[in-house]
Amino acid sequence: MTNLQTIAREVRTCTLCPLARSRTNAVPGEGPTRAKLMFVGEAPGREEDVQGRPFVGQAGKVLNQALLSAGIERGEVFITNVVKCRPPNNRLPTKNEIDSCITAHLHRQIQLLNPQIICLLGGTAVKALLGLDRLGAVRGRLMEKDRKYFATYHPAGAGRNPAWHEAFQADLKKLKDLLINKG
Ligand code: URA
Repeated sequence: MTNLQTIAREVRTCTLCPLARSRTNAVPGEGPTRAKLMFVGEAPGREEDVQGRPFVGQAGKVLNQALLSAGIERGEVFITNVVKCRPPNNRLPTKNEIDSCITAHLHRQIQLLNPQIICLLGGTAVKALLGLDRLGAVRGRLMEKDRKYFATYHPAGAGRNPAWHEAFQADLKKLKDLLINKG
């Protein structure tokens, strides 16, 4: 039977796109199988590629701090990315890389986890899962498509822009309230 561990094993040995050739480690994502909340970022960066874990570098520090101040425990949520392998020099993943990675891995992770809410971190995740070009049009509120989504800034962007950082922290607090209110 397929479960999240099976998908993680498949991700670690995946050769479906050219990113497999340049990665050190694929990054399947991490978190409990009963997580109510799933975070989806863009793609692993340098530190994530070295450790094989999501959001453990500079953007991870911004995310961890915002989770803490919102009262969300990192160990209680599932954290992953649209693309599971680091694009060289942190370039944006291509449409082909995104399409093949979400079909093979992310869509199945979502189905198996079946989270209450998926929090999309930044424009790449918004485009990949909602098909929308502008984060600003949907940021900071609950959206229903095939399931419930909540979009906010990418932590790397929030770390560079004080106004986005403030909004990012406020968004995660709102997200926490949405979860509580869902019982
Ligand atoms: N940026 C992302 O989008 N994901 C990570 O895991 C790290 C940095």
